[in-house]
Amino acid sequence: MQISMIPEPKKILAGEEGYADPAIREKKVNPDMGGEEYRLQLKKDGIWIEGGSETACLYAEATLEQIRLQCKDELPCLTVEDGPEHSWRSFHIDCARHFIPAEELKKMIRMSAHFKLNKFHWHFSDDQGWRIECKRFPLLHEIGAVRRGDHMGNYDSDETEDRYYTREQVREIVAFCGELGVEVIPEVDMPGHVTAVLAAYPQYGCRGERIPVETQAGIFRDILCPGKEETFAFIEQLLDDLLELFPGNYFHIGGDEAPKEYWSSCPLCRKRMKEEGLETLQQLQGYMENRITAYLKSKGRTVIVWNEAAYGGNLDPDTIVQLWTDDKENRLGEHMERGGRAVISIVKNCYCDYPYGITSLRDVYELEDCPEGLAKAGNGILGTECLIWTEHVRDVKRLETFCWPRFAASAEVGWRGQDRSGYLSFEARMKALLPVFEKYGIHAEKVSGWVPAQEEADRQKAEFEKNFSAEDRQEVEKMQEII
Ligand SMILES: [Zn+2]
Repeated sequence: MQISMIPEPKKILAGEEGYADPAIREKKVNPDMGGEEYRLQLKKDGIWIEGGSETACLYAEATLEQIRLQCKDELPCLTVEDGPEHSWRSFHIDCARHFIPAEELKKMIRMSAHFKLNKFHWHFSDDQGWRIECKRFPLLHEIGAVRRGDHMGNYDSDETEDRYYTREQVREIVAFCGELGVEVIPEVDMPGHVTAVLAAYPQYGCRGERIPVETQAGIFRDILCPGKEETFAFIEQLLDDLLELFPGNYFHIGGDEAPKEYWSSCPLCRKRMKEEGLETLQQLQGYMENRITAYLKSKGRTVIVWNEAAYGGNLDPDTIVQLWTDDKENRLGEHMERGGRAVISIVKNCYCDYPYGITSLRDVYELEDCPEGLAKAGNGILGTECLIWTEHVRDVKRLETFCWPRFAASAEVGWRGQDRSGYLSFEARMKALLPVFEKYGIHAEKVSGWVPAQEEADRQKAEFEKNFSAEDRQEVEKMQEII
């Protein structure tokens, strides 16, 4: 029988005739293998697992799990030799706009790890909520986590959301990820998307005015003020607080969608620009990101930013840039020519918060993981990320159907890079592997919804667009001009 596996392994070698003995005889780390490479052998006298690390052995077990789900007790004799093309295969979950309970989050992480996604980008702070208990700045969870109403998109509710993860829950989730070979990348988006932070500590914005946690979706003008020294002291202590919870190598400091209207009229921001010889507001953002980056580097961390943070042209080349927009001016290319590295997560292929009628399973599978212009700029492309933003995700079922199987398609893109068998092969294998979702209790999108026909796609698009009024669109366009 044809056995389906996702991500598709690089090499499957047929073994002897007859069935394999289902007992695992040996599982060992082989230091001669690459850190994520594994060999899985199904033989008449049992199963042998070898991997370059504990995590690689888990990959072998995930592959074995898929084989067992299809073949039951009649395991064929075969050998799988496998390893990923990209070392960076991350998934992002926004837990700020709408809170995702810890148990549900674990379910999503477990499913992602099964498909060999290896980094969890945890987005827990945004305009609509700060969702982690903070020891040094308790108002962040006491005030910043309290959103009085939900008016994101065309939704209209006065219900209050005040949930956040306790420090104990964060530690538990980080440890849970560790056991599954998944590294956690925490994100604090700065200097924009900080309404919830400024609701708690307004003194670190340019205006210093008290503002409520945002109940609407969008881009907002109040951002952190880099003119004040106190802002940097606050950020450093906040990072100290978080570094205790997140022992991993990476830290994402955001940097997207930061409208600089208040910076341009703030005397302290103006003074800073003059003192530092910065000519543009984008360079002021670069200065700010670099200062935060230098602090995190001094703590042994590698920093990641969204691509807008590279627009000043003065970003530290050690910073990893996450490309999500078109980047028409090729600022990322310039960053990479200076030795920079990048993660690819283009909206039209990677954002799983859009309905399948806008971003189909095929679109996700057909991501160009090494965009032409960038590939030339060096081999700094680390890999890919799939994402879900939750402005319009209010329940677990929608979260799951929007992510699955699209996250699985992204997992294969990251694992195989440009050496993919094509969408039709992926789709056939995914159909054969539907029992995986059942096993993990995941509500995946039904097969007929993966690549909707034009009429259905148009319907979904029209429905989704109801979330954005003409006024909202104008506001976003205005904001984009001042980012
Ligand atoms: Zn300012």
